Amino acid sequence: MARVLLRNVTKVFGKVVAVDNLTLEVKDGEFMVLLGPSGCGKSTTLRMIAGLETPSKGEIWIGDTLVNDIDPTKRNVAMVFQSYALYPHMTVFGNIEFPLKMMRVPKSERKRKVIEIAKFLGIDDLLNRKPHQLSGGQQQRVALARALVREPEVFLLDEPLSNLDAKIRTQMRFELKKLLSHELGITTIYVTHDQVEAMTMADRIAVMNKGRLQQVGTPEEIFYKPKNTFVATFVGSPQMNIIKGEVISKNNRKFFVTSFFEIPVPEDTPEGEILIGFRPQHVIVSTAPMKGFIEGKIIGIEKLGVENYVHVDYGEFEIIIKAPENIAIKERIYWKPESEKMYFFNPKTKTAIY
Ligand code: ATP
Repeated sequence: MARVLLRNVTKVFGKVVAVDNLTLEVKDGEFMVLLGPSGCGKSTTLRMIAGLETPSKGEIWIGDTLVNDIDPTKRNVAMVFQSYALYPHMTVFGNIEFPLKMMRVPKSERKRKVIEIAKFLGIDDLLNRKPHQLSGGQQQRVALARALVREPEVFLLDEPLSNLDAKIRTQMRFELKKLLSHELGITTIYVTHDQVEAMTMADRIAVMNKGRLQQVGTPEEIFYKPKNTFVATFVGSPQMNIIKGEVISKNNRKFFVTSFFEIPVPEDTPEGEILIGFRPQHVIVSTAPMKGFIEGKIIGIEKLGVENYVHVDYGEFEIIIKAPENIAIKERIYWKPESEKMYFFNPKTKTAIY
């Protein structure tokens, strides 16, 4: 096993800065998730670690070795792609055996290792099949087996679950985490744009946007202490409400005011223009008018089974809040954010004010 260190890594493709001055350390045995929207540079980062792309600037270390100029096959990393990239004409056995052949491992040992890893992943009864005779979940396991059979020091996965249907995805999420973190304890870097995957699997998450690292932290830190509005709105579903307004003092108390309502805020909140944030779940609601509650008209309802979310309209903006059952469109709702669960952001830099 090994730690992975990226130091001031930049990758430029023509005019596109795919990765911008990224510094990130993945500890030995850690499960690090690179999370961000499409095009934020996650895959490019992973491909640079694998050696499939060369950094334009910066250093990549695996263990104590600077690997910038080391061939991908000599880095002792294994990568699993979204498409699995299994060889269609080979059996499952042949697919898993292939990397060992490349490493010139003797035949009897190859067989032993293939059977061992196949048993470990519960695919030993599929060894004679071809990839097209497998389900998505089984193909995914074969791809994992093929990558793991080499006993790499670092395991790289690029959206490995995105081709699976929702039910199998949830199950594989759990299995993968158990296998990689709890059973093998292998250093893993996992790319996804799915925040639920990131939150449930990661030891730490690195959130990226437009090639830049936004924040690195445990799932709890990312969720409860987002460093900026990007992280705050990217993680959590439905996304955090962010409203622009002004903090003023009135009768020795501080209020956040917009043209539609005002909300009392803590005394240490700085006066002037500000962004406040609160999650849809962190709101107290009432279907009847109550003192200190803000009135709003419901313009949309999202029913997610156990939970209902309503969109409340204020002309210039709308907010989303978790609402009681049996609420109807066009009805009035009364709400206020839970005071200790509000976030404040600088309107210019969009960074958190704590
Ligand atoms: P996705 O989730 O869609 O795969 P990503 O976060 O993995 O996105 P990258 O694939 O790393 O993003 O791409 C980052 C940026 O670099 C994008 O703007 C992309 O178009 C650009 N890019 C990536 N590879 C190349 C390439 N080989 N040539 C030119 N531009 C590229």
